[in-house]
Amino acid sequence: MIELQGIHKIYRMGAEEVHALRDVNLQIGENEFIAIVGPSGSGKSTMMNILGCLDSPTRGSYSLAGEEVSQLRDDQLADVRNRRIGFIFQSFNLLPRLTALQNVELPMVYAGVPAAERRRWAERALEQVGLKQRAHHRPNEMSGGQRQRVAIARAMVNNPAIMLADEPTGNLDTKTGEEIMALFHRLHREGKTIILVTHESEIAQQARRIVTFRDGKIVDDRINEVAS
Ligand code: ADP
Ligand code: ADP
Repeated sequence: MIELQGIHKIYRMGAEEVHALRDVNLQIGENEFIAIVGPSGSGKSTMMNILGCLDSPTRGSYSLAGEEVSQLRDDQLADVRNRRIGFIFQSFNLLPRLTALQNVELPMVYAGVPAAERRRWAERALEQVGLKQRAHHRPNEMSGGQRQRVAIARAMVNNPAIMLADEPTGNLDTKTGEEIMALFHRLHREGKTIILVTHESEIAQQARRIVTFRDGKIVDDRINEVAS
């Protein structure tokens, strides 16, 4: 489903060059559950941005569901992103003036789904994360765990095959983090590919496969027997 070959990412800042990824090769199949780990600055976020079609590699090929996406223009990349990927962020990234329901509807607004249908799918997604009763609340009227569940509902509403999460439990207490992980496990059982970046080893240990980055390279890639 995902195949990266010879991926390099070089950031240029004036005369300075930062090699954020150096010759990364990675294959991810359907319905995997992967944790990406590694020290700060090792290239994890850069990898997520490329996997999620938010950014393109400087060199190398990226095949996503059979489509070569490494050389696409920004608007083409946005289209692939909207069709294939759901994003979840540490800081939830909800729009504060919109209700939970309106936040969840947003990806469908971009996808051109008619209003009545949007509402129906958004209500259903909120129901699936256990937040039907909060549909008309704004983010500041909700707890951190509830906000993250709204963000997960938003990420799944277009029915993407791949969910990418960057430190999804980083702003949550342990118990709430566990509830969020339980949601990821459910999505995984339903067939999604889950890829998450985490600093927390207890979170990484719940993934079926753990990929470790260091200095822009993959230095370890193993099946996690504990979770399998
Ligand atoms: P991680 O997520 O593992 O902390 P990053 O992918 O954020 O690592 O960063 C990898 C390297 O690339 C670091 O040296 C970082 O400073 C650099 N970097 C990341 N983003 C940019 C950017 N937009 N411009 C310049 N350098 C960047
Ligand atoms: P089931 O109930 O059998 O699991 P769904 O009701 O989830 O099936 O999906 C029925 C169809 O609607 C599928 O083709 C699915 O891809 C599509 N679909 C699911 N969610 C959305 C959405 N948020 N927006 C548009 N289409 C969707």
